[in-house]
Amino acid sequence: MKIFNHEIQPGERFCDYIKVGELACFSDIRIPVMVLRGKQAGPTLWLTGAVHGDELNGLWAMRRFFWELAADKLQGTLVITPILNPIAFWGRSKVSMLDQLDMDQQFPGNPQGLYSERVAHVIFSELKEKAGYVIDFHTLNHLFSATPYTVSKLVAEANDKTNEEAFRLAKIFGVYPNCRVDLKTAGGELPGTTSGALDILCMQHNIPCFMAEMGGGGRWEESSIQVAYQGIENVMAALGMIAKDLPVSEKKLIITKRKFLRSDYGGLVRMAVKPGDFVPAGGLIATIYDFFKEVGHVHAEQDMFMIATCFNPVVSSGDRLAFVGCEWHETK
Ligand SMILES: [Zn+2]
Repeated sequence: MKIFNHEIQPGERFCDYIKVGELACFSDIRIPVMVLRGKQAGPTLWLTGAVHGDELNGLWAMRRFFWELAADKLQGTLVITPILNPIAFWGRSKVSMLDQLDMDQQFPGNPQGLYSERVAHVIFSELKEKAGYVIDFHTLNHLFSATPYTVSKLVAEANDKTNEEAFRLAKIFGVYPNCRVDLKTAGGELPGTTSGALDILCMQHNIPCFMAEMGGGGRWEESSIQVAYQGIENVMAALGMIAKDLPVSEKKLIITKRKFLRSDYGGLVRMAVKPGDFVPAGGLIATIYDFFKEVGHVHAEQDMFMIATCFNPVVSSGDRLAFVGCEWHETK
């Protein structure tokens, strides 16, 4: 099989950089590509990371997993593009300084467009032809702590099998909270627009894909890296790519509605809750202070599950304090 024009034989491990652009200082812009083709045939799982440049936990899990997996233990092909947005990665930021575009709103990309559109085009052109399944790794931003969770979207243009398979694999990934987002009714979320997201484009091409949101951004969290590693292993086992007993099915929280809680005040916030907490209606979520008094409180207006909470205490009015689930059910 060919990946980015490189012929890869059964049993071969391929690692190289692919040129995706050029900088004014005469350097190439490159992304790392890692491929392990098993000795036996099977599905192609493609892992992507750092489409937002400061979301780091997933890429270290991919690197660790790739070098620990042997070709004779693999059926099918594992393709890894751990850094989709190298300029944002270099700048330690979500978006690149070259165009300030959110690359995860630019797919399928445009070969005549701005930097992010061009890179998105290079990646998606190849991925849509070769990938059988995709896991797209993200984190919350660096101001937040988060419990690892998955997001699988119900996409109208995808067939039923694709929609079901993405949800099934997201649950098999193995974390307790799993967001199930119906794009017809989704609202109140960042980035607010859902067009051009890699997971949605994959689904529209009937490639089952989900997002793995692995903790907080801008840092490495060993616990989130381990969750990501286990998740890759679980999904590959479920696809028959590696031999491994899947963990006994544990209860999963399926979150069907979520939103951000925002501060009405400026000051310093003390969070009363942490990621993973259930908060009953009326429960205290946060208190905002200045240096002389308590400026205000934030209470839950309904039962809530805390997906992510503010890590940095500095808040202005309108800033996000928490990302919460407000409708859910439990399932096996
Ligand atoms: Zn992201």
